[in-house]
Amino acid sequence: MPRQLQGVQSKWQCDSLADGKENVMLPQSPGTSSARAETFSPRVRRATTSRTERIWPGGVIPYVIGGNFTGSQRAIFKQAMRHWEKHTCVTFIERTDEESFIVFSYRTCGCCSYVGRRGGGPQAISIGKNCDKFGIVAHELGHVVGFWHEHTRPDRDQHVTIIRENIQPGQEYNFLKMEAGEVSSLGETYDFDSIMHYARNTFSRGVFLDTILPRRDDNGVRPTIGQRVRLSQGDIAQARKLYKCPACGETLQDTTGNFSAPGFPNGYPSYSHCVWRISVTPGEKIILNFTSMDLFKSRLCWYDYVEVRDGYWRKAPLLGRFCGDQVPEPLISTDSRLWVEFRSSSNILGKGFFAVYEATCGGDINKDAGQIQSPNYPDDYRPSKECVWRITVSEGFHVGLTFQAFEIERHDSCSYDYLEIRDGPTEESILIGHFCGYEKPENVKSSSNRMWMKFVSDASINKAGFAANFFKGMN
Ligand SMILES: [Zn+2]
Repeated sequence: MPRQLQGVQSKWQCDSLADGKENVMLPQSPGTSSARAETFSPRVRRATTSRTERIWPGGVIPYVIGGNFTGSQRAIFKQAMRHWEKHTCVTFIERTDEESFIVFSYRTCGCCSYVGRRGGGPQAISIGKNCDKFGIVAHELGHVVGFWHEHTRPDRDQHVTIIRENIQPGQEYNFLKMEAGEVSSLGETYDFDSIMHYARNTFSRGVFLDTILPRRDDNGVRPTIGQRVRLSQGDIAQARKLYKCPACGETLQDTTGNFSAPGFPNGYPSYSHCVWRISVTPGEKIILNFTSMDLFKSRLCWYDYVEVRDGYWRKAPLLGRFCGDQVPEPLISTDSRLWVEFRSSSNILGKGFFAVYEATCGGDINKDAGQIQSPNYPDDYRPSKECVWRITVSEGFHVGLTFQAFEIERHDSCSYDYLEIRDGPTEESILIGHFCGYEKPENVKSSSNRMWMKFVSDASINKAGFAANFFKGMN
């Protein structure tokens, strides 16, 4: 285990009460899924943190997935991160050299996470054996983003009743209210449907004993609490406030899609600000085509403009800044994300713009390290895909390839769906392997600095696909 991680652990333990860290612990007896218990070392609630240093700058949360998780667990983590990205403007990126980042790991506490950004190095998000489920990971990520548990809001007594005699001895502190100064609900009302809300029997002495009960009866029925399925509308609204997400624009995650300036084609309002974040799966690129363009023209597009950046945020390299009525050439991303921003100024109107995009897989990769995944990984790959990657690393090295996950429709001769790897730059290079099925191939290496890979899916039966890292290796 890297030394950094050990450092986190000790810090974690001694800072827990003072530092706003929570433990989310499962009951000792692996019980019903509804009896998921959580421990909060400080006190916790969905109400968001009111401490601005706990907010991730730009909403960017770098992550590392520790080494001991299976491919399907990693897939769940990624799906949960994507879920947050879809509905808010936070962004999870694989950590490179960022100082502060989260580490998916497995600690004895079960599920634990700091609330918000701790700062100054790695912070663990522990995903224990019984909480590697999509909804629970999404909940833990809620803590990372900055949410405490909903029922610890200072105003909770108007909404829920805590039944103290049913709480497991020693766990009472999980039901403490937060101080009004620690949290802010940003004007959002109490949300029974929040993914950050406890279930009725969380930390109960018995599965059928309630510890927390909604007070309000909707038509005689108490609202359901403790869902771990998806972010609620309230979670989304509150996170968008916390991170000051632009009111206009969205995250686009489908393989194809389109978007346009507000009001298109009838003219955009003054002082618009929109951000669209296009995010396809790693290993895919985005081809973006403006099909209509009519923005007030100014020198350097100073006033009204649409800007396209080659990456996940506003500091990514600029691909183009457009105004006037010239439709730009198609734009292609380097990786799997594009960031598009539209601004208008005062009373200077045009029809706006319309843009379509599609994801494309494969291509030339000239890097010394990176990740390749089948399209749509970790969700099932699409039918009738063919992707060819040509990897080139620095001269004098070979290409090494290790698989993290592999699940391709099984067939005796792999003639339906498969991954083919060749030792060199082309389809004619020497075959290294022709793979399908559910076993990860052994590590692969080329004899030169080039490797050729092809992934093919037929019209039926789709699986999760594969994820692999490539790197330059010494010969
Ligand atoms: Zn929690």
